Amino acid sequence: MSEKLAKLRMQLIVPCYNEEENIPLFVAAAEQNLREYDWHILFVNDGSTDNSWGEILRISKKHSRVHGICFARNFGHQNALKAGLEEAWEHHEADVYVTLDADLQHPLEFIPEMVKAWRGGARIVQAARQDEGRKISLFKKLTSKLFYGVFSMLSGVKLQHGMADFRLLDHGVLEFIVSCHDKDFFLRGLLPWSGLRMELLPYKPHERQHGVSKFTVRKMCSLAMTGIVGYSVRPLYCSIILGLISLIISLAYFIYVIVIASMGGSDISVGWPSLIATVLAIGGVQLFMLGILGIYLGKLYMEHKGRPTYVVGARTRE
Ligand code: UDP
Ligand code: MG
Repeated sequence: MSEKLAKLRMQLIVPCYNEEENIPLFVAAAEQNLREYDWHILFVNDGSTDNSWGEILRISKKHSRVHGICFARNFGHQNALKAGLEEAWEHHEADVYVTLDADLQHPLEFIPEMVKAWRGGARIVQAARQDEGRKISLFKKLTSKLFYGVFSMLSGVKLQHGMADFRLLDHGVLEFIVSCHDKDFFLRGLLPWSGLRMELLPYKPHERQHGVSKFTVRKMCSLAMTGIVGYSVRPLYCSIILGLISLIISLAYFIYVIVIASMGGSDISVGWPSLIATVLAIGGVQLFMLGILGIYLGKLYMEHKGRPTYVVGARTRE
């Protein structure tokens, strides 16, 4: 308890991909908003193609509170978060850890609110984005709703809309995270899955300061796939349900044909189209299920190789 009352040691973990203009603004925002804490920033440069790493190096030289690690190439946002958390664990320098984006969409002035919730007993304080009054494309709104709904239904882990990667964690939660060896790291699912006490705090995001969103449709689909496949094997059970449905339909059709034939009627006139439709439908279902099996098999294969999920090329300190 006395530790909580002393100046709180706080580590911000910030993945960056082409954020050169936002990095100095981020540090300035931390200086302005986090005076009451003993804060540090760990930037994780996720293979940026601009001068993000140059900026991190420059600032870390004159600012003892700023550190960074640099990936050898782009390994993705979730892996950048994972690397940041593992690095933070190695250095054991903080009481609480805050993960947030470099583009200042996650307001640093909201952090004291999160600390309050942590002091109130929450182990994980999850900021939940409020989208009312924001200009968001219908496509993004629909796909995001669809993902959260499908994920919760398939995995049994309750994810709520707006639960992105802006959160505060305590040291025990960090210990739990680094003890997980998921190759497909998906922190948004892992934390609710753990059952550790989580409090949701609604916040209004800012607009991106500079640059554009790095989450292309392809990256969003890949993240959704990682989340769903990593937390549920229910899609594999689809083949049992689909197989059962087609069995029932074919039995019903068989009975229909026998009844028509015994009444002296003929089914020949509809025989050809119904045959083709059935063959195509069953072929489609089989290919679909093979695809799902293939996804899981591929994930197992990649897991089996045991390669690291990211490669660090440089650090601002050893
Ligand atoms: N990011 C990353 N690697 C990537 C894509 C994004 O580290 O491959 C970082 C990015 O620099 C930002 C955060 O992840 O700090 C969120 O990305 P972005 O703001 O583009 O996503 P959005 O807010 O549009 O969902
Ligand atoms: Mg953003």
